[in-house]
Amino acid sequence: MQFSALKRKELLDKMKTTDYDLLIIGGGITGAGIALDAATRGLKIALIEKEDFAWGTSSRSTKLIHGGLRYLKQFEIGLVREVGSERAIVHKNARHIVIPEKMLLPIVEGGSLNGALSSVGLWVYDFLAGVKKDERRKMLSKQKTGELEPLLRKDILKGGGLYYEYRSDDARLTIENIKTAVKHGADCVNYTEAIGYIYQNDKVVGIEAKDGVSENHFSIKAKAVINATGPWVDNLRAIDQEAVKGKRLHLTKGVHLVFPYEKLPVQQSAYFDVLNDGRMVFAIPRGKITYVGTTDTNYKGPIARPVTTSEDVAYVLKAVNTMFPEVNLAANDVVSTWAGLRPLIHEDGKDPSELSRKDEIFFSKTGLISIAGGKLTGYRKMAERVLNAAVKQLKNDFPNQYDKLKRCQTATLKLNGGNFNSQKELNTFITRRIGEAKQIDATTEDIKNLVYKYGIDTDIIIEKAYELYPTVTSPVERLHKAELWYSIHHEMSLNLKDYLIRRTGRLYFERQELEELYPWLANQMAELLGWSEERKLRELAAFKREYDEVLAFRKEVVA
Ligand code: FAD
Repeated sequence: MQFSALKRKELLDKMKTTDYDLLIIGGGITGAGIALDAATRGLKIALIEKEDFAWGTSSRSTKLIHGGLRYLKQFEIGLVREVGSERAIVHKNARHIVIPEKMLLPIVEGGSLNGALSSVGLWVYDFLAGVKKDERRKMLSKQKTGELEPLLRKDILKGGGLYYEYRSDDARLTIENIKTAVKHGADCVNYTEAIGYIYQNDKVVGIEAKDGVSENHFSIKAKAVINATGPWVDNLRAIDQEAVKGKRLHLTKGVHLVFPYEKLPVQQSAYFDVLNDGRMVFAIPRGKITYVGTTDTNYKGPIARPVTTSEDVAYVLKAVNTMFPEVNLAANDVVSTWAGLRPLIHEDGKDPSELSRKDEIFFSKTGLISIAGGKLTGYRKMAERVLNAAVKQLKNDFPNQYDKLKRCQTATLKLNGGNFNSQKELNTFITRRIGEAKQIDATTEDIKNLVYKYGIDTDIIIEKAYELYPTVTSPVERLHKAELWYSIHHEMSLNLKDYLIRRTGRLYFERQELEELYPWLANQMAELLGWSEERKLRELAAFKREYDEVLAFRKEVVA
């Protein structure tokens, strides 16, 4: 079935009448990874997400596929080894959205790492991850570090290290996993909430669901259920027959601030000390902006709406202005923000930054399996682990297929859009499309932006733009229309928020350009989805709320 917003009702009807092998609750990266792993092992699966895919933490991370250098300082060798090697696997499977990125680690007086420690640390980091020879870390003199990043504060600079990480787009990585799972037969739907469980002989055999669009309630039957709801994991455990005992979640909040690139024109990504604090933050240039983060503070507020406060802004501004004194950034320079919650496992007496990022699986007596913790980077391995456990639980249902079901297939499976075997192939694809798209007046920048979001699916968007060519004369409008059409028909975008926040990241990376664009897009969406005027106004108001909320901290700032 096509993964289209227009087929959503048909999909829900199917889900009501199908007996699934496995049902996954939660459409973040964890649930998406499990869906893909399960579908490719041959299980009949369903995934439901109460809001939009990647709506939770998986659209609000630092968006790095990284080994977690700082976990080395905490001696989490196993974690560093696993996520370190996963970086290269995820990159190979999705070259269009997992892109190698050189990271500069400045060594400064009063910083958390000295030259010798950084050199050994980065060497071990590369060694554990099995990094290729030509991509291994290079240690730099003070002068070379200053040349690489002229904005760095000179008086305390002692040198630097240059090493490889990967940058990504968390929400797009999630959606590409979901789409690949759908291609392998999974039924995945957004705006559908699990509100209770169905039991047979005290075992979970499905869930009661609520369709957030029609508000209808219905049941979905499945032999096994996995709770992959990130920060909501304990809530979903609590509505199971047992109360949450033993290990529980510990939520910490992290924010990112976005600046116009010209306000923070760093030459490449940097991972630098917050002086007198012991923590480190990233500055990552991306197109017309640079974003900086993150914070790590205990969180007790509503899970659904973590926001960036003026206190968070002050912390990040101080960190940047201390390390890059010439930029002298102020709260008014912030053009967007996002805030997310880490679903970590509680450990008595530990501060937020000391809590392990390892994942953990919880088994309930009712058969419900829950998974929490972990990293965006390690999602594929997390999926493999939890699936191995689920398959054991299903062993008696599949006596003849058990051997096949035990085997994880995802290590070499290309994600949707990512069918490139090398960077050269990706570059050739881009060059060819730039040539072809001249006929529809698309610029080199337009094509690159599309390919680094949609990979080979860019062809579907270009084809749609060709179709619109005779009737839509403005090249900019033509491409916007084609991209929006694709998002509705191929990525189940149901409203402006889905499209502008999670499918395209525009609220974070291009917010300044949205003021005029989003009302126009609402009209296009109304036409494509058959909205009434009243519905359109509701959708506009819902997006406006998000649009304002990313800068709501400004109202708190005392001038
Ligand atoms: P989520 O993405 O929150 O997904 C859970 C989903 O479950 C949500 O979409 C929610 O709506 C849904 N749900 C909840 N209840 C229900 C219900 N009843 N029915 C149906 N659906 C439900 N990791 C990295 O590797 N690299 C990084 O650079 C990085 N940076 C980070 C920076 C910050 C500030 C934070 C907070 C985290 C960062 N992480 C990073 C960690 C990473 O983002 C998370 O580990 C990961 O996104 C968690 O994904 P998840 O799917 O478990 O949770």
